[in-house]
Amino acid sequence: MTDRQEDVRALLNNLERYLMQEKDLFGNTIFSEGRTPKKGNGAPLSPQYPEEPWVHVQMIDELNKDIAGCLKCPLGQTRTNFVFGVGNPKADVMFIGEAPGADEDAQGEPFVGRAGQLLNKIIEAVQMKREEVYICNILKCRPPNNRDPLPTEMGTCSPYLLKQIELIKPKFIICLGRISAQWLMQTNDTLTALRGKAHEFHGARLIVTYHPAALLRNPNWKRPAWDDMKMFKKLYDEMKGKA
Ligand code: URA
Repeated sequence: MTDRQEDVRALLNNLERYLMQEKDLFGNTIFSEGRTPKKGNGAPLSPQYPEEPWVHVQMIDELNKDIAGCLKCPLGQTRTNFVFGVGNPKADVMFIGEAPGADEDAQGEPFVGRAGQLLNKIIEAVQMKREEVYICNILKCRPPNNRDPLPTEMGTCSPYLLKQIELIKPKFIICLGRISAQWLMQTNDTLTALRGKAHEFHGARLIVTYHPAALLRNPNWKRPAWDDMKMFKKLYDEMKGKA
C-alpha cells in the first residue's frame, strides 16, 4: 500500500469513528427528518397480541416459556438463543439495552460480553448487584452483524418487553443508549436531550444514559454516564427513604 493509500485509509477510519460517535449522540436524526414526539407515556403497556396466551400470564418464567419459540420476525430464524432477560423478577431497577450481541446470542443471557462486564461495574458502582436488578433488551434475538434494531423488529418484539415491565413493575427503568430510550418513549429526541432528568413511564421513573458499548468506544463519556448514575442513585435512595 502506498503512503497516500495509507493516509486515505487512516482518514476513513477516523471519519467512521467520528460518525459512530455522532450517531450515538444524535441518532439518525441528523440524516433524516425527525418524528414528532408523541404526547403521553410513550409505548403503551396494553397488549398488541390480545389473542396470545402469554399476554395473560402472571409469572415472568411463564412468560419466558411461552414466548421463547417466537418466530414473529426473521431474527427468530437466525438466532442461537432467545435472550429473554435476567435478574430479580421483583427488581426495583430495570436496565434496558438494544438487542443481544454475539456473546448474548451464544449464552442466552443479556449483557454478558464486554459491554456487559462494564454494565456490571456500573451496577456495582451504585452499590447494587447484577442479581438484584433486572436486565433485558428491546429485541430478544440478535440482529445480524450487530446492526441496529429495525423499527419493524422493535414494533414486533417490544410487546414482550412491555409485558416484562408490567410483571416486574420496576420503580426505575434505566435505558442504555438512545435506541431503547427513543423506542420506549416514542420520541425522536436526542440522547443529549433525554439525559439528565427522570421521565415518567407508566408509573416508573425512566432515566437515560449511554450504552456501555458506546462507553467502551469513547471513554470520555464515562464521566457524564457516572453523572447519570449518581442522579439515579440519589432518586433511588430518596425513594427507599420514603418507602
Ligand atoms: N448490547 C445490548 O444492547 N444488549 C446486550 O445484551 C448486549 C449488548
